[in-house]
Amino acid sequence: MNKYQLSADQLDTREAIRKFAQERIAPQARQIEESNEFPRELFGELGEQGYLGAAQPPEYGGAGCDAVTLCLILEEISRASGAVGNSFNTHVSLVTELIGTHGSPAQKDKYLRDLISARKMGAFGLTEPSGGSNAGAPLTHASADGNDYLLTGSKAFITNGPIADIFVITVKTETGVSAFILERGMPGFEIGPPDQKMGMHGSPTSSLYFDQVRVPRENMLGPEGHGFKAFAQALDRGRVNVAALITGIAQASYEASVVYAKERQQFGKPIAAFQGVQFPIAEMATEIEASRLLTLNAARMFDAGLPIKLESSMAKWFAAEAALRACDTAISVHGGYGYLGDFPVERYYRDVKMYHIAEGTANIQRIVMAREILGRYPM
Ligand SMILES: Cc1cc2nc3c(=O)[nH]c(=O)nc-3n(C[C@H](O)[C@H](O)[C@H](O)COP(=O)(O)OP(=O)(O)OC[C@H]3O[C@@H](n4cnc5c(N)ncnc54)[C@H](O)[C@@H]3O)c2cc1C
Repeated sequence: MNKYQLSADQLDTREAIRKFAQERIAPQARQIEESNEFPRELFGELGEQGYLGAAQPPEYGGAGCDAVTLCLILEEISRASGAVGNSFNTHVSLVTELIGTHGSPAQKDKYLRDLISARKMGAFGLTEPSGGSNAGAPLTHASADGNDYLLTGSKAFITNGPIADIFVITVKTETGVSAFILERGMPGFEIGPPDQKMGMHGSPTSSLYFDQVRVPRENMLGPEGHGFKAFAQALDRGRVNVAALITGIAQASYEASVVYAKERQQFGKPIAAFQGVQFPIAEMATEIEASRLLTLNAARMFDAGLPIKLESSMAKWFAAEAALRACDTAISVHGGYGYLGDFPVERYYRDVKMYHIAEGTANIQRIVMAREILGRYPM
């Protein structure tokens, strides 16, 4: 038995992605942050290695891996670079997953292979300027016009917006919320400039604007009126994947803290000799372990076909809270140097704060958990 009871295949994949992430991604993490540019060549390499289609079926070039394996991949990429992890996750866990699960055979033929091979990059548009928490009420709307729909409205904070080729978005149609696949360059579809963000530099976000964009009916993803349901399903599983990304950043901050605490000398000893430094490191290690166990448990439940709404929100909420504490501790352990750009810990803190907000804020996770828990008891 191994520590997380992983299968031989899962252990092999974790070893392979850890090697790739540490050799190819981690050395570029600082440069990605400073240039604020997404490394498209690395994205190509992730495609060549088969990671972009990890969870997709082999007939479209995927590897058909389980949810646990995808979590192992996400944790290792995010541990090497939060920005690469975030853009990778949007592409793999949201866009490719939505088309793979809800796409028609024609949509899969047209888009899935390109997404899996890195020829095209994906973005996922749910949030609007008017609100992200109430995501089931988009103001962006579409009206039928012959065999097409005309889309008008806007989306905000869209990860990969400035660099994506394919966009899956929600819009209000006559019978409810529907999902569409859009392509960059469609007339009337404008992409805003990259947002100036606190962290996640290199994983660009932007607004999207739609002015009577003519989209063929065949680009509707799933039946009309079922778009929000499809997005909500993707987000249930997506929260497990995000919890894995968060755990990766927290793990990196913990490892940096252990190394620094053993090297840095004060009062004639390494600071690791002081209980005031030891105890917070012990606590961060414990909370990271708990985050990983909640994440892998939810992924295992998904693989077993069990409902995971409660467990995925628990994993995402706990991991985000624990990682913020871990990244804060890492800065404290580094003292003044933790506040400078010379060490990566201030970047981990800025990057990880995003996950307190995106893919459902901490409050939204609490609402989902409370509904799942209290909804089980008669009033
Ligand atoms: C870096 C980054 C990347 C992102 N990428 C994407 C992306 O790729 N695609 C996408 O669609 N979106 C994306 N988002 C958007 C993100 O999902 C939203 O920002 C998030 O859902 C919150 O929505 P909001 O910003 O409108 O905040 P609001 O919904 O206005 O919430 C503001 C505050 O009010 C609280 N609140 C709201 N309603 C309630 C309630 N009922 N009870 C208690 N508290 C409540 C919230 O918890 C929050 O603290 C991204 C955001 C960021 C920062």
